[in-house]
Amino acid sequence: MNMSDNSDSFFIAKKERQEDLARRVDRAQNFDEIFELVKRVVEEELGEHRAGLTLVLANMPSTVGAYHPVGANIIVANKSLINGLQTVTKNPREINAFVFMILLHEYLHSLGYLDENEVRRVAQHVSSSALGPNHPTVKLANANWLELYPQLQSLSQQPFSREFEVVQKFDSSSTSYIG
Ligand SMILES: [Zn+2]
Repeated sequence: MNMSDNSDSFFIAKKERQEDLARRVDRAQNFDEIFELVKRVVEEELGEHRAGLTLVLANMPSTVGAYHPVGANIIVANKSLINGLQTVTKNPREINAFVFMILLHEYLHSLGYLDENEVRRVAQHVSSSALGPNHPTVKLANANWLELYPQLQSLSQQPFSREFEVVQKFDSSSTSYIG
């Protein structure tokens, strides 16, 4: 058995898998599709899984991407920030990467990773390994988006809204068996 042949084919298989997943993230059409990919990537990279999360959208200051109240089964994502990003960049790949990263970050919190630095490190590792080191999610995992997109700083005074919008069909793979 030739070890180098083996590791070459392993490397090629991994690269193809990264390209396939990156393409799926880039082309995702909604929160549900992106979250399915987040869960798949975490399952494959870390072997961890949880079901039954609800996504809620609310307006918040642009310093907050999303949050997960410890012990709750919701992720609250910043609607005004995502809307603002859509006016700053028309590139769906960048917008999807951003949504992927904030959902991945909060999903890791929901799995029990509570330390902020650890979550950032794990998110960076997971996205780099799953999507390839050059995917925009990798840069976002450990960056300040207000530095990457300074135009979003104008939204930093956006107050926390009292209105919450539940994203329907979110986490649908965990509920689809209910007939
Ligand atoms: Zn966090």
